[in-house]
Amino acid sequence: MRVRNRKGSAEYIENNPQFVVSNPKEYKGRWHEKFGNDNPIHIEVGSGKGAFVTGMAALNPDINYIGIDMQLSVLSYALDKVIEAELPNVQLLHVDGSDLTDYFADEEIDLLYLNFSDPWPKTRHEKRRLTYKSFLKTFEQILVDKGEIHFKTDNRGLFEYSLASMSQYGMIIKQVWLDLHATDFPDNVMTEYEEKFSSKGQVIYRVEAQYK
Ligand code: SAH
Repeated sequence: MRVRNRKGSAEYIENNPQFVVSNPKEYKGRWHEKFGNDNPIHIEVGSGKGAFVTGMAALNPDINYIGIDMQLSVLSYALDKVIEAELPNVQLLHVDGSDLTDYFADEEIDLLYLNFSDPWPKTRHEKRRLTYKSFLKTFEQILVDKGEIHFKTDNRGLFEYSLASMSQYGMIIKQVWLDLHATDFPDNVMTEYEEKFSSKGQVIYRVEAQYK
């Protein structure tokens, strides 16, 4: 997601530590304390402007959500939504998805979402794709046993790559949608990119993959 630098993002985020923790390493293994309950924790890596995590949090009050994005300006727009929504079950994290084992203990996370991840179409950038094997390994470590990744995208190339990468990693491809919006999928919470691309007529792909 490309956004212009938003002035004052860093201060804005620093001033809202109740929604964007300023010392995330301290919460490793203690996220349930942060939320004040033992409910499952679901995360979105690359959460962008936050429509998905806030929408999901409103729909599922018994699940805790953490939106993770490494771009400060983007995260500051997600913070607008989190503040406005006044939901107790959503947090934001300003970190790189490749470092998640620094911020989450083994098996601390119940489900991981990837939505409209950057496609990095050039082969030499393969390692940056969030479904590259090194990311799948990091995600496996913080996810519960037999944890799942739910991934949506409009990008056919990234989708094809991701199915192969997940399968080569040894994951079970549990369910695949080649046109999500043409099927009956109750409670689909749209992301910003999903709104944008589907309104232009692009199909949305989805996969649910599970670690063995
Ligand atoms: N999920 C949102 C945004 C998609 S754009 C939506 O569907 O609308 C992809 C987002 O992933 C960008 O905001 C980008 O900053 C973030 N991102 C890309 N690589 C990342 C990484 N390694 N760690 C954390 N965030 C990442």
